[in-house]
Amino acid sequence: MVRVKSRCGNCGEVALSLEDILLVEHGDGDGTFYTFICCTCGGAQAYPADSRFIDFMRMNGTKPIVLAHPIERKQAEDAPPICWDDLLDLHLLLQEDS
Ligand SMILES: [Zn+2]
Repeated sequence: MVRVKSRCGNCGEVALSLEDILLVEHGDGDGTFYTFICCTCGGAQAYPADSRFIDFMRMNGTKPIVLAHPIERKQAEDAPPICWDDLLDLHLLLQEDS
């Protein structure tokens, strides 16, 4: 079984199997990260993955999960920022429903 070494922020160096690692590619071009749950403390860890590590994971059969933003985010990019009046309107609308 192939093992790789990484670091846990709490425990220091940890040895992981490839099945312990989740490769996550941000669909907006913010890069690829690898994440795992530390087998000692149970803490979630995430670190940037360089191209060598991504190639290594791909060669061993791991494909990255691609995170895409919801379509609503794209639509909201052209909208004006939310303001206090918007919040007050929402508050009044929520009171009407109850
Ligand atoms: Zn740990």
